[in-house]
Amino acid sequence: MGLKENAALKLSVLLNLKAEGATVYGEVNDYHFSINQIPYGNATVWQLTMLLDKTLSTDTQTNLKKTHKINIQYTALDITPTYQAVAYNIVLNMPMSKEKQVNYFNNLITTLTNMLANEGISNIENCGLCGVTKEDEDVEYAVYKGLYIKLHKSCIEAAYEEQRREIEKENKNIKRLPISIILAFLGAVVGIIPSVISIFGFGWLFGILFAICPIASFFGYKLGKAPLRWYATLIAAVCSLIVTALVIILFGLLVAAAANATLQEVFADSELGLGALLGQALLFDIVGIACAFGYISKTRSGKVSK
Ligand SMILES: [Zn+2]
Repeated sequence: MGLKENAALKLSVLLNLKAEGATVYGEVNDYHFSINQIPYGNATVWQLTMLLDKTLSTDTQTNLKKTHKINIQYTALDITPTYQAVAYNIVLNMPMSKEKQVNYFNNLITTLTNMLANEGISNIENCGLCGVTKEDEDVEYAVYKGLYIKLHKSCIEAAYEEQRREIEKENKNIKRLPISIILAFLGAVVGIIPSVISIFGFGWLFGILFAICPIASFFGYKLGKAPLRWYATLIAAVCSLIVTALVIILFGLLVAAAANATLQEVFADSELGLGALLGQALLFDIVGIACAFGYISKTRSGKVSK
């Protein structure tokens, strides 16, 4: 059990709720909610989430904020055209002592659900995956992606099946790792060519050119079709750092041969600035690595966890 799951289990026991994975969930006054840990600066906080059909009136909201310090942030959820929900997100300002935590939470959820009932706000009855209520199949509450929402059994099974297929496919692709590594290295070699032309051909360096190297290396990796996991960036980074260092050293060796000096002497010569050049090249490598990493994080967000 991971840290998050453990924390969720403890909180669920304390508050007399249920837990599934890293999500705490429950029901008060017919309103269904989930509680998840979210990052907050360097720490994490608990956030309560409810999916409802509309927002509270401004008056009630001001009142809740003033008297109960309940601060609601709304996000719109349009899963399908027939499924439109307002997500109520409330960061829980949990007191330190366990006893006070129970009182704080019970007070908050009772106050909030009473206000919701007063204003005639309801849970969403449609399935959170397909967006409709099929007549031949009941929608039931289930935890999905950290939300406690109504779902069709068949819809949730289809979603998990899809996820299983993707994981299977990815595991199969791990066999392509050696090819991806070779192509990442070749990519780095191709990506360094603009820098080589700039240094050897014109004798000057346009630093940003070095950022092309890890990006090209990353695309080489992608071409090999191995999974786009965290190590994809690492492989592209290592390949491009090696290739970059080799090119600068090669340049140093040529300068050394022409000047009849040793490589160490050439690098120590501050007028030639080869040491600074190497530093700058590696720095721009890192810029390229950050670009490649950003691409991976973007493609991998939206992954389901279960
Ligand atoms: Zn459905």
